[in-house]
Amino acid sequence: MERWMADLCRAMPKVELHLHLDGALRPKTALDLSAARQWRDFETPLSYRQMHSKLVVGHPLASQGELLSYFEIPGLLLQTEEALRRITRELVWEKAADHVCYCEIRWAPQLHTAEGLTTRQVVEAVLEESASASRQAGVIVRLIAVGMRTHSLGQNLKMLEEIAPFRGKGLAGVDFAGPEAKAPDALEQEAFFLRARELGFAITLHCGEMPGSAPRLAEQIRQLRPARVAHGPGSAEDPVLCAFLREQDAMLDLCPTSNLQAGLYPDYESYPLRQLVEAGVPVSISTDDSVLSNLTLSDEYINLLQVGQVDLSTLWRLNLNALGHAFLEPEEKARLLFRLNSWASNIPELQSPPAELQ
Ligand SMILES: [Zn+2]
Repeated sequence: MERWMADLCRAMPKVELHLHLDGALRPKTALDLSAARQWRDFETPLSYRQMHSKLVVGHPLASQGELLSYFEIPGLLLQTEEALRRITRELVWEKAADHVCYCEIRWAPQLHTAEGLTTRQVVEAVLEESASASRQAGVIVRLIAVGMRTHSLGQNLKMLEEIAPFRGKGLAGVDFAGPEAKAPDALEQEAFFLRARELGFAITLHCGEMPGSAPRLAEQIRQLRPARVAHGPGSAEDPVLCAFLREQDAMLDLCPTSNLQAGLYPDYESYPLRQLVEAGVPVSISTDDSVLSNLTLSDEYINLLQVGQVDLSTLWRLNLNALGHAFLEPEEKARLLFRLNSWASNIPELQSPPAELQ
């Protein structure tokens, strides 16, 4: 690929909708946090190399389950306000450095209460720090609280009540995530989605990170009607589901590298992005986990351009569509859309060819 294309990807103001806070723990940050905890989580202090191997995927894995094992150390270390604030700040600044102008960061507040923090304290710490980092770094940030597939319905409903006061104060949406192999059926927790909707949260749902998940995906999307789906590339196998997503304007927030690392597809060529775009399904591109996948959003754009999954003007269109589906207040969205359109207005490579006259 020519250098100018990669440079343009890096320079573009980008929108990222699918990003996990706990997938952004840097090895050096983990070493600092471990030392401050006097290494009580480990038998002996780890070297940088050892910590890196536990936080950053270095080779393709066999499954989503294996990918999720990389969240063990973040789960151990991110148990204090200071740790949560630091990782939030680092992630916002990292996104700013990659010219991401808007991002939604998601995390499961209840996973950070093992050592005494309340859900409320967890949410306050992440919200406050993301607001202040957002102002300093010039990135607009909204947060999404995640209910867990592996938690009981009671636990997930309790979280909803605890986070409800923060809705509209930086916390915009609710997600449902976790190991699909262990808890495949989100429909068992339909009450979680109903209550989240009642409370006014925008809803997204992690789904389709396992091979052959298209039928289950269709059922869950039809019944739970999330505004967006985290992943779900297997929808490409089901034309009826594609039509449904198109009609409902339900967006798939795709993370190709993450799915490759989880063994879902062998390479970028076989990832069904192009089919989904051609089928008119709303899709956006994200990294999922910036440190765990060792990936910037620009890197991901370049990966997709390199194999011809998309061209530059399509990428830009997906970027604008992502903003259109963001869990962001309409006035802010309109302001940002104006900024993005102005930025691209004198770059012919980013303009879509005019539609064919009928
Ligand atoms: Zn995800």
